[in-house]
Amino acid sequence: MKVPSFAYSRMVDLSRTIAPSEGRLIHYRTARVPVDDPPTDRWYITTSIEMGGHAGTHVEGPLHAVQDGPAIADLNVERFFGEAIVFDFSDAPLGEPLSPEQFQRAAEPGGGVRPGDIALFRFDWDQRATAGSYPPYPTTVALRWLVEAGIKLLGIDTPGLDIPGDRSLPNHHLLFAHGIPLIESLDRLGDLRQPRVYLFAQPLPAAETDAIPLRVLAFEG
Ligand SMILES: [Zn+2]
Repeated sequence: MKVPSFAYSRMVDLSRTIAPSEGRLIHYRTARVPVDDPPTDRWYITTSIEMGGHAGTHVEGPLHAVQDGPAIADLNVERFFGEAIVFDFSDAPLGEPLSPEQFQRAAEPGGGVRPGDIALFRFDWDQRATAGSYPPYPTTVALRWLVEAGIKLLGIDTPGLDIPGDRSLPNHHLLFAHGIPLIESLDRLGDLRQPRVYLFAQPLPAAETDAIPLRVLAFEG
């Protein structure tokens, strides 16, 4: 019998803890539900959860911006694990666009983008966000370069990646037109020490939703 081998020296959990919160798209509420036939003399509870699909670290699928597009349960699970290249944009000025040249330079430490890679954009937004500030963002030309290089999944530590003021959301549409899911609001990308890691993330196989929170783990060799 043969099972896959998997060795790593360090793991970083890139997901945020989902704690009770309010917000139209990001709410998270829990309630204790009475048990019909509780055991005697033992602690035993069931919890009901109500949450927005965009709460905490979450993945968006094409249905988010493409009518009748695939919902989360329709996505291929193999998109959610594999080698990931980290683009370090932690020095990029807030609110400024990122050019294809900046992308190409940021891809060098990870050995360039390979077909089937997962891409991670590190902005250190969890450290740098201030009220009213806008994160750096890729130009659509730069994002197209990455899409054409063959990435299968994109993860970012910001709540979005579109062009400020452009409500046609060209970057979202570019990704979803190519079936590439987008993970938003990652944490601790700054804790990674290597520019290429093994990423494992899986959303619940939830039907009829455009987005759902998920756990994202990065493994360094
Ligand atoms: Zn979202």
